[in-house]
Amino acid sequence: MSEQDNVINLGQKRPIDQEKVNVAAAAMNNAEIPDHMLNQIVDDEFPVITDTVPLPSKGVFYRNKQATIKIKHLTAEDENILTSPDLIRNGKVLDVLLDNAIIDSSLTADDMLVGDRNAVLMYLRKEGYGDDYEVKINCPSCSEDFTTIVKISDIESKPLDSQPDGNGEFFIELPKSGWKVKFRLLNGKDENYLSQLSGKNKKGKKGVLYSNLLTERFLLQVMEVNGNRDKLQIKKAISNMPALDSLYLREHVAVVEPGLKLETNYTCNKCSHNFDGDIPITPKLFWPNAKI
Ligand SMILES: [Zn+2]
Repeated sequence: MSEQDNVINLGQKRPIDQEKVNVAAAAMNNAEIPDHMLNQIVDDEFPVITDTVPLPSKGVFYRNKQATIKIKHLTAEDENILTSPDLIRNGKVLDVLLDNAIIDSSLTADDMLVGDRNAVLMYLRKEGYGDDYEVKINCPSCSEDFTTIVKISDIESKPLDSQPDGNGEFFIELPKSGWKVKFRLLNGKDENYLSQLSGKNKKGKKGVLYSNLLTERFLLQVMEVNGNRDKLQIKKAISNMPALDSLYLREHVAVVEPGLKLETNYTCNKCSHNFDGDIPITPKLFWPNAKI
């Protein structure tokens, strides 16, 4: 498909060229035309809608510094992915969907920062299923679940807070230990790795099971402690990091990370409690009735 063949504006209809339809129909009935040529003829006549989505990170962390990504809107074929029970069960559905939607050859879903992935997912949801997103939220006051509607078009982009160094890393001095730490932001590949670990627990003293997801996340993020870039040394430092510093580091990562402003205000419709909480990004975004 050539560049000018892509339909960029939503709702912009191209006039049907009967000549082309006849060519396509004749080609489909001609067994001598190889499949890849047939696909090309059909693609030319029925192009998918493509679009360019701005990335909250502005591409600062990517090799070619691209600030936008080219995607295609959801199609009937994508709905097969969205209704595949296996994919939903193993949590890979959003990942597969992103992979399928991205038609940009220079950036993959794996390489994209989490905030950029969220921006593309929200965009696909809005174009595919509309602006009203029904979310199920647990009220911190009465502990009841309630549902409410979030407008996707109200979600603002959160730009990069400060510039990283030449390695794409940020510097921070931890308040309690005084350690000088350099960290990077996580991408799709890192998140997938962490979500695979999330089901596994570690056995602690006295056989108590606990999750070491927090440590694993730091291991991916922290690239340097006090000038030391050796992974084993960093691992040791992370396990000895004071709790206050751990919290400080997590909060600092959240501040610098570009993405979407997912925090919104909710009012519980059971007890009228008013509170701030995040808009969840789960497969429910595309499949509201999923039992997840
Ligand atoms: Zn409540």
